[in-house]
Amino acid sequence: MIRSRTKKRRMSAVFSLAAAALLMLPGATGLSAQAPKSAPAVAAKAGTDEEFARLVRVWTTRPEFLSPLVDHLPTARGVPSPKDVLGYHIGQPKRLTYYADMLKYYRALAAASPRVRVTTIGTSDEGRECVVVFVGSEESIANLDRYRGYLGQLADPRPLTEAQAMEIVGRAKPLYHLVGGLHSGETGPPEMLMELAYRLAVEDSPLITRIRNNVIVSITPSAEPDGRDRYVDWYYAYKTGETGENISYGGPPYWGKYILHDNNRDFNFSQPTTRAILDWYLQWHPPIMHELHESVPFLYTFSGQAPQNPTLDPILYGELPWFANFEMAQMIKYGMPGVWTHAFVDMWYPGYMGFMASNHNGMLRMYETYGNGGANTMKRRIGGGGEGGMGAGGGQTSREWYRPMPPYAEVEWSLRNNTNYMQTGVLSALELTSAFPRVVLENFYRKSRNSIEAGRKEAPFGYVIPAGGPDRTRVAWVVNILRMQGIEVGRATSAVTLKEGTFPAGTFIVKRDQPYGRLAKILLEKQTFPDPNLRTYDDTGWTVGLMTHTDVKEIADSAILDVPVQPVTKVALEGTVSGAAGSIVAIAHHGSANMITLRYRLKDLDVGAAERPFNAGDAEFPAGSFLVDAGTGAGALARVKAAVNQLGLTAAILPSAPDVPTHRVDLPRLAVFSTWGSTQDVGWVRHAFDAFEIGYDLIFKEQVRAGNLRDRYDVIVMPSQGRTGKGLVFDLPPVGKPLPYRKSDQFRSFGMYGESDDVTGGMGLAGVVEIEKFVEAGGVLVTLGAASFFPAEFGLARRVDASRPSAQFYAPGPIVEAEITQPSHPVFYGYTAKTLPVRYAGGPLLSIQGLEAERERQTLMRYRGTDAAILSGLMKGAAETRNRPAIAEIQSGKGRVLMFATNPCFRYQTLGEFNMLFNAVLHYNDVKR
Ligand SMILES: [Zn+2]
Repeated sequence: MIRSRTKKRRMSAVFSLAAAALLMLPGATGLSAQAPKSAPAVAAKAGTDEEFARLVRVWTTRPEFLSPLVDHLPTARGVPSPKDVLGYHIGQPKRLTYYADMLKYYRALAAASPRVRVTTIGTSDEGRECVVVFVGSEESIANLDRYRGYLGQLADPRPLTEAQAMEIVGRAKPLYHLVGGLHSGETGPPEMLMELAYRLAVEDSPLITRIRNNVIVSITPSAEPDGRDRYVDWYYAYKTGETGENISYGGPPYWGKYILHDNNRDFNFSQPTTRAILDWYLQWHPPIMHELHESVPFLYTFSGQAPQNPTLDPILYGELPWFANFEMAQMIKYGMPGVWTHAFVDMWYPGYMGFMASNHNGMLRMYETYGNGGANTMKRRIGGGGEGGMGAGGGQTSREWYRPMPPYAEVEWSLRNNTNYMQTGVLSALELTSAFPRVVLENFYRKSRNSIEAGRKEAPFGYVIPAGGPDRTRVAWVVNILRMQGIEVGRATSAVTLKEGTFPAGTFIVKRDQPYGRLAKILLEKQTFPDPNLRTYDDTGWTVGLMTHTDVKEIADSAILDVPVQPVTKVALEGTVSGAAGSIVAIAHHGSANMITLRYRLKDLDVGAAERPFNAGDAEFPAGSFLVDAGTGAGALARVKAAVNQLGLTAAILPSAPDVPTHRVDLPRLAVFSTWGSTQDVGWVRHAFDAFEIGYDLIFKEQVRAGNLRDRYDVIVMPSQGRTGKGLVFDLPPVGKPLPYRKSDQFRSFGMYGESDDVTGGMGLAGVVEIEKFVEAGGVLVTLGAASFFPAEFGLARRVDASRPSAQFYAPGPIVEAEITQPSHPVFYGYTAKTLPVRYAGGPLLSIQGLEAERERQTLMRYRGTDAAILSGLMKGAAETRNRPAIAEIQSGKGRVLMFATNPCFRYQTLGEFNMLFNAVLHYNDVKR
């Protein structure tokens, strides 16, 4: 499923049923240009698989859960069915397929059938191959590159006349892309897709033949290969005995290396698996991308309900219910209950993986099919309980206008049921696509053309990103994110004068009259939520300039469209080192997050930090600038210069040390604490630390309870997790037997990133005592987001209270203004403005008891808490946050507790906030008491 915010609160990551995703690409030609050639190996059919037909009826728990599209399987001489390779039919109870076996099957199918091809598109963190499987007629597969070319032309129709475009529409075929396994706990789609691929390759029914001729189907077998194997291991280790309402053993602590469900929120495509799919998408331009998830009963087909992003093409909002209603009608016709649409997830947040299709003028499609989080057949009771709103899960058995034949309140459910529903739905979607390939292609073309036209007619006409500021690295980040998404960015070849101002040559220019001009607007504009009475499924704000603290100017002057530019491929970082004589290198802290990388790259050198700004020549060095004495040690100066250049920083060589108070920048012995049950937000912090080359140990309850933390660490970072202090301390409830997470011959994916003899139980009070000793003995505890409930609730910051806003308050991830109240504190090195945009992270509302002066001193940053301070997205009830600490610092014994109510390393999006955490690490022993 796409995990809802509400569910995130209620269920630990480990114990949730996970979900899978599907992508689809449409783009079909109305008439196939050539009659398909016959393929003797495929055409020589031997009949139908009697065993399959018999077993599927056994495994399907009620007759109405089967459809005429999937109640049979053809045999084809020489072409292996899934069973021929795997040893079992898809949907066999208590059978899940490991990723390598899936690839083995697809490769065997491709080797035997000219209607199938497998291509490699990337590699996962743990080294598994990411692939796309194409299935179509022999003619389609033989000419894949030609069809790719047609779609590329429709995706960027600027060189085409209308007549030429229509001619290409007539020759092209829609590419319909399906994605399974994005969410590893959603186990059904990767199984179903193997059978679907086989069926599409060999069945000669009129329907399948038409699909094969008119549509090219492409498949991501499992979008998170590492997580697939770890989840299947977990299933075989713990879950095969689960029954009915006793789904106790959740899932493994990790799917991929860092994150779980948030691989469907990887806004900046920071993970290799999501990035591989984006890169593939931008080469192939599938007009439809269909994510296959699992959660609600029995099959939910997404139709794009409100709130909708109004920048996307209105054609899309007609296409989504067109497909969803067709599927619902077909499946109801087959007698399948529980197929519904309209009331789950919405079209607001653009960072779901499959939105890469909608964002690029294609169509995102999405299913949720009922699943048991494994392959057991189980009695399930389906939540009634009134309207659940936008997908909170309530009311799923009620009859509604969008659910004319609701799911049953109680059901015996099997993996084969899941396969039947999903495959019947997908075949219906392909039926529609194959019946209207030309409409799908023409819509794709029209949406692309409209995006260009919209940029010519409607303000904003573009965006200007000034390049001449003191920090080049954040500008480079923003431009490279746009480029990664296929958005064209240019550099002005001479000075530009617009109504908004004059900008020098070299300024980055984003024009809206381009195929992905709409996406540029979606990413760069301020988000204005359409109706404060609506709720939404994920964040309401994401404005890239605000998230990264980068100046991005919206341009209402259409003259920007005519500015001559040099196209940018990618911005390479390039630093500057001025001056020559001397051995002191001063590196300016202008807010680049790369400052910490520099410190780690020079970890063997003495580095100081200026505590106040200073000038050297005509250059300004803000507080927090580094001072390196490179006079000693062979090659030190060359190393410093090289690192400054690679990291895009600004440095000057000085003849002597400047007259400014400094302190040494020592690197702490750093630990990141993680529960076993809530590893995802920890994963985002780990990912940021790894990306910026910050050294740390990942520790769990085992290491905490072992004690002596102060002997081993100077700083412990507790990323957001656990939801409450109690949740962080007690974590997963015990299940009556230990649940080890250790690598073994049988479960080879276990033990990655940490090992445990029992992942349940949490650190407990014994762990709290060890954390307290650590702080009392001089350690620094840094808590982020929800983890900041912990020191308040367990007395480590006993004069701080952490509360929650009222039920009327609603703030799904807006960007709000915060005020720095202790500007000279090292946490704010590199920040020059008095107020900053920060993402409201739903952390605790902190209040500090005591004398006013004391409270002021302990509040480092606070929320403004006015409506005017909401910079992007929705916050209802802003006054509840007024003047609440966004960062508080409490002395405790010889140590400190630094509490962020914000989440400074959120999903690799909040680059502008990274430095507050990075500075806290670098200057851990430099805070004046
Ligand atoms: Zn999912």
